[in-house]
Amino acid sequence: MKEASLYQRLDGDKVQCNLCAHRCVILPGKSGICRVRENIGGTLYTKVYGRVIAQHIDPVEKKPLYHFYPGSKAYSIATPGCNFRCRFCQNWEISQISNEGILETGEKVTPEQIVSSAKYLGCKSIAYTYTEPTIFFEYSFDVAVMAHKEGIKNIYVSNGYMTDEMLEMIGPHLDAANIDLKAFRDETYRRIIGGRLQPVLDNLKKIKQMGIWLEVTSLIIPGINDDQQEIRDMANFVAEELGKDVPWHISRFFPGWKMQEVPATPLKTLQMAKDVGFEAGLRYVYVGNVALEHETTRCSTCGQVLIDRMNFGILKNEIYNGCCPNCGTEISGVGLG
Ligand code: SF4
Repeated sequence: MKEASLYQRLDGDKVQCNLCAHRCVILPGKSGICRVRENIGGTLYTKVYGRVIAQHIDPVEKKPLYHFYPGSKAYSIATPGCNFRCRFCQNWEISQISNEGILETGEKVTPEQIVSSAKYLGCKSIAYTYTEPTIFFEYSFDVAVMAHKEGIKNIYVSNGYMTDEMLEMIGPHLDAANIDLKAFRDETYRRIIGGRLQPVLDNLKKIKQMGIWLEVTSLIIPGINDDQQEIRDMANFVAEELGKDVPWHISRFFPGWKMQEVPATPLKTLQMAKDVGFEAGLRYVYVGNVALEHETTRCSTCGQVLIDRMNFGILKNEIYNGCCPNCGTEISGVGLG
């Protein structure tokens, strides 16, 4: 195990972890809410440094990032655990592992091995994803620093619950982030997710201000956050506080983990949410998790289809020098073509 960063020692061998907004105070012999950081005799350790539980090459569109090097490959990695307890988690087998399981799962992989695999396999970026990268901060930081030296970009796919201190450390090494906005009601964050809304809103604004390319994802769950007013509140927040050029991904829910009884999101709800996003003034609103549906990026000025996608693949990309070839409007994003 490796000594953790971003914590302080307290009286009686207690420690306070300052990695995420939970700011757990941890007694000796105990772990924080995420289960992956343990206090041993007044020193905080991370149990997941280099303990890789998932390692795949994904299209960057699968993160989802639609305006960041479209069509490129993202070397995607995760370690076990999470600081949230979303009852609808779709990766719960790796995010909600027991205390004991954490030290028994995963394969030891060094940052050098991750970066050299990504480079060898022609990946434009490394994505810290599937579980929550905040809680494998030390490992993601070391990989990210090394990746940048090799000209590889770094992507966080995150619940956005990190502290300011952590964001300031990882921020300069991140090129893009997809952050979940899982609801717009603090009550839902507390009851269904195991966190609070405000730190996520604050971090979304901060990530944008730091100049990291930002896209936002909201999973729409029947009976939980599918009320039109709540969806409007989310869309207005993205448009007004983050910017109309920030892509917003509305994702379809399927029954999972502790929400088996809730039906999949109806397609008409997703369409309603998409309409609400455009009404709020957002230029790029996408529906995800729907098989065989085309998702297109249109020029916000002339309406021309610029990128056509299906099932995370790019069918066409007509963006030229970052602009619409028809009317010259600049299209927001990085490495668009
Ligand atoms: S990362 Fe968050 S949940 Fe885990 S110990 Fe630190 S403050 Fe607690």
